[in-house]
Amino acid sequence: MSTSTIHYNDQQRIAVLTLDNPPVNGIGNTVRQGLYAGIERAMGDPGIDAVLLIGAGRQFCGGADIRQFNTAAATEKPLTRDVLSLIARSTKPVVAAIHGVALGGGLELALGCHYRVASADAKLGLPEVNLGLIPGGGGTQRLPRLIGVDAALDIILSGTAIKAPRALELGLVNAVIEGELLAGAQAFTRRVVAEGSALPLVAQRALEPAGINFDERRNAVPTRARNATAQRAAVDAVQASTQLTLEGGLTRERALFDELVAGPESKALRHLFFAEREAPKLSELPANTAPLAVRKVAVLGAGTMGGGIAMAFANAGIPVVLFEREQAAIDRGLDLVRRNYGVTVAKGKLSEAAMAARMALIEPALDYAALADVDLVIEAVFEDMAVKKEVFSHLDAHCKLGAILATNTSRLSIDEIALSTSRPQDVIGLHFFSPANVMRLLEVVRGERTSPAVIAACMKMAQDIGKIPVLVRVCEGFVGNRMLTGYWREAGFMLEEGASPQQVDRAMTGFGMAMGPLAMADLAGMDINWATRKRLAPSRPAHLRYSKVADRICEAGRYGQKTSAGYYRYEPGSRAPIPDPLVDAIIESCAVEAGIVRHPVRDEDVAERCVLALVNEGVRILDEGVAQRASDIDVVYVHGYGFPAARGGPMFWAETLGLAQTLERIRVLQATHGSHWTPAPGLVERVAQGRQRFDARVEP
Ligand code: NAD
Repeated sequence: MSTSTIHYNDQQRIAVLTLDNPPVNGIGNTVRQGLYAGIERAMGDPGIDAVLLIGAGRQFCGGADIRQFNTAAATEKPLTRDVLSLIARSTKPVVAAIHGVALGGGLELALGCHYRVASADAKLGLPEVNLGLIPGGGGTQRLPRLIGVDAALDIILSGTAIKAPRALELGLVNAVIEGELLAGAQAFTRRVVAEGSALPLVAQRALEPAGINFDERRNAVPTRARNATAQRAAVDAVQASTQLTLEGGLTRERALFDELVAGPESKALRHLFFAEREAPKLSELPANTAPLAVRKVAVLGAGTMGGGIAMAFANAGIPVVLFEREQAAIDRGLDLVRRNYGVTVAKGKLSEAAMAARMALIEPALDYAALADVDLVIEAVFEDMAVKKEVFSHLDAHCKLGAILATNTSRLSIDEIALSTSRPQDVIGLHFFSPANVMRLLEVVRGERTSPAVIAACMKMAQDIGKIPVLVRVCEGFVGNRMLTGYWREAGFMLEEGASPQQVDRAMTGFGMAMGPLAMADLAGMDINWATRKRLAPSRPAHLRYSKVADRICEAGRYGQKTSAGYYRYEPGSRAPIPDPLVDAIIESCAVEAGIVRHPVRDEDVAERCVLALVNEGVRILDEGVAQRASDIDVVYVHGYGFPAARGGPMFWAETLGLAQTLERIRVLQATHGSHWTPAPGLVERVAQGRQRFDARVEP
């Protein structure tokens, strides 16, 4: 009666069914078959009084088995709903014993049981909205019937898990078991059997509390939420629980679920879910590469980036030496770190004690001798090749053999920096994003000679501190900043052609970007790109169109927010961009100089040109091997550049538009605007081959 993933044990008149489907006891076809058969057997066996479901290993159940998404096994009978109908027909109590987590389908399975008990540290939740879905196995119907509409909506809309004691308060579990779960759950089950009370039935309707306004809950979903469609559908489903019978509600839930699965938001979020899990995997490193351990770190430079990077390590409990040139710079840096932590404490998200513990992990230093025993150094000094080379020659002299020597440079060549050391195999780029303690993206930039062990160590370290690492190769701007060049280029061209800065930014935030390109340039500091443009000017082909707008703005001493003026002007102490007629005049004079007659530009064209510029460069990056996969480029843009998650990233956006259509749009732009729009050869090739996707992999 046992299957490979469900074990059936008769333990003194209780049938214990153990889910054993590592790593998370995901509900796949064999689990469903085993549960169905086991419950049916227990129902028909006069020697059994009750059924107990429990998970092997570290948890009860993490949800559906994602390895079976989009496979025939996913729809193989019995379905979860068949298992739950069988439980509903059982005259013997069925109890779920939860430890670790009960998430998604795992919690829905437990909700279909008559009773639930949980270990004190167990977590229960319905995270489906994070994938642009709603619970599809009865969660939106049984949960409000069990704990009330308001509490159910909070759990379903947030997608975050709650702890067992809170679940007990809400009535989601019947008991919290201290000590060994199986023994406690068996005792609970025996008590239920002995009492012989009627088994709890699911109410036909959820009680609609007075004063709940479903329209208000729907309208309260932020329009910019990555999963706004799913959240609104979840409100619809929960509302149905108050209006329909259980059967009717389940049908309504299923219809809403099916609609979401087929819709663009969920497709994009599911793509990202897999892309994020794929990103840390190394496609070409030798399988036996053992990552070096990173137990102690040093950060050089306590400026904007250095302070945030030090916090990222301290937050993960890893000691950091924070190195600077002079005491005043150290004091400034530590003060900024302290103030940043202070904000989190003031919000109630960090205790004073935890803040003190983290500060204690950051050890200031002014002498290179303090770096002698660290496993990893991250340099975040000025973006200047001469300064970086000097710093790396000191690192070479003072760091222990085998220490990883990393630079946080945004654009400089890792290979050139590596040459200033005697150990280029240990040199790597670790490109953090600002604020480094918050942003999850980390571009791990492998140099020509970086060793596999160093790469593997950095990919692992990144995950240990909660980042999503993406492996890239050295090129101008790596993945993210390289793609920005074309994105900003088109924004500048459209200014000359007739758009205003505020129209360009509005069009892009309308598309879903967290920020428009010009407001972003003001935030990042226009002088940085100006320096890059000047550096690259000699290699710029003379025949290519070039907008002088950004240079002229910089020549006027306007570097963005840091000088209270850039594409916009800023009131002292404010980050709110204010349109500036001076900028309009610069744009108009550049247009006249370029012989352009300005005319109205459509928002759709702004968005299309900016995003297609990202895509066209993205294809080149992919085909040059600068990125391992197209989905990595999506991860970079969503997590580093504010690209809307609900669109899945620029490469997924192009796949959704269709590669053939993407190529056609680029060809139209090429015909109108010239050589900047030469389609990436890899795009032409893929369309000729009839390919639909950039990466060859199965999607959920
Ligand atoms: P910053 O000017 O805020 O800080 C640089 C710090 O380095 C200063 O505190 C300075 O005193 C210190 N410093 C300079 N020379 C030093 C030396 N020889 N030894 C020790 N300390 C020294 O600069 P930042 O914005 O933090 O940028 C640092 C690096 O990170 C640059 O390479 C930059 O390109 C890169 N980066 C910046 C961002 C960003 O958004 N600011 C994002 C990603 C990467």
